[in-house]
Amino acid sequence: MELKDLLKEIERNFTENDKRMGPLFLLSVLSEEVGELNRAIRYYENIEEEISDVIFITLSIANLYGINPENKIKEKYLKDPNKIKNKWKDIY
Ligand SMILES: [Mg+2]
Repeated sequence: MELKDLLKEIERNFTENDKRMGPLFLLSVLSEEVGELNRAIRYYENIEEEISDVIFITLSIANLYGINPENKIKEKYLKDPNKIKNKWKDIY
């Protein structure tokens, strides 16, 4: 399944409700899920589930704004990977 298809499937099932809840609600859920991912990585358990939760909520927020982040991710991170590697060189 491509990203655009995943966005459409999430939109079909959730975006109407998400619009009623609003972006700040989804942002609070994202914050909670990032905390869960933090714990998952720290204790090396449920990492796949928590990464899925973070991606799902992030894509739900993208849908609220009609955004498909695929091209921006390609442009920003994959077009010139060395740019990112140099930016984070002190961490690598
Ligand atoms: Mg979770």
